[in-house]
Amino acid sequence: MQGKITRIISNLYTVEAEGQIYECRARGKFYHDGLTPLVGDLVIIDADNKYILELKPRKNVLLRPTIANIDMAVIITSTKQPNLDLNLLDRLLCIIIHNKIEPIICFTKIDLLSFKDKKIIKNLIKYYRKIGIKCLTNNDIRKLTKMIKDKTVVLTGQTGAGKSTLLNKLDNSLNLATQPISKALGRGKHTTRHVELFKYKTSLIADTPGFSALDLKELTKEDIKNSFLEFNLSCEFKDCMHQEEKNCEVKKLVGAGDILTSRYQNYLKFMEDLNGNKRINY
Ligand code: ZN
Repeated sequence: MQGKITRIISNLYTVEAEGQIYECRARGKFYHDGLTPLVGDLVIIDADNKYILELKPRKNVLLRPTIANIDMAVIITSTKQPNLDLNLLDRLLCIIIHNKIEPIICFTKIDLLSFKDKKIIKNLIKYYRKIGIKCLTNNDIRKLTKMIKDKTVVLTGQTGAGKSTLLNKLDNSLNLATQPISKALGRGKHTTRHVELFKYKTSLIADTPGFSALDLKELTKEDIKNSFLEFNLSCEFKDCMHQEEKNCEVKKLVGAGDILTSRYQNYLKFMEDLNGNKRINY
């Protein structure tokens, strides 16, 4: 029977398979092969004896927290308090796309914006949609529920961007379930934090404030270039890095206003940061 690991506590693996929950142990052979089962892993289990028999190949692995096989990442992007941070948004998009995860941008706190600022956000949504990225606001809960149907999802974004509010809107019980254990049990800071996938309708949602500190350093310049989807579609020169090159279509389109200036500036900044081999954290 095939299932998915939703929780690991010491050497007990919670596996969801065909709508049932199985508390399994792992066969020692994984460790001999140097494999450690992770939350999110697809596994074959012996349901009668409650053993994990086999680990399926992973689509991706996120570090800190460690989760395998993430399908989608919702980037919760505050438009005010904290202010809109397009550098962070583009950085997260880079990492997410590079890890073969589908991003969804969710703009929050739109109601705090002036008419003029709302228009700016509207244009941003239009732009990101045009380049093939799903976008919505935190008022589009039904749309979001539809988008994440049957998927394993992480939520990410800066502190105070409204993750709890969003979880609450999805399902009140989900937000309670995703409270850090230490808080839920009233223990101190030193309680071991574990990662868990929670069921929401047919989706699984990771209980993490976001996969922080995945550095762009892990990405090469080529990776960054490839994750700026619209640049590569625009410029016909395959080897063009869209920097100093003459006749680069990307630069022309930035000049013409067809490519967002912020996108291009962030791109140059990420490239420059890699030159200095600087670690990029957020
Ligand atoms: Zn170019």
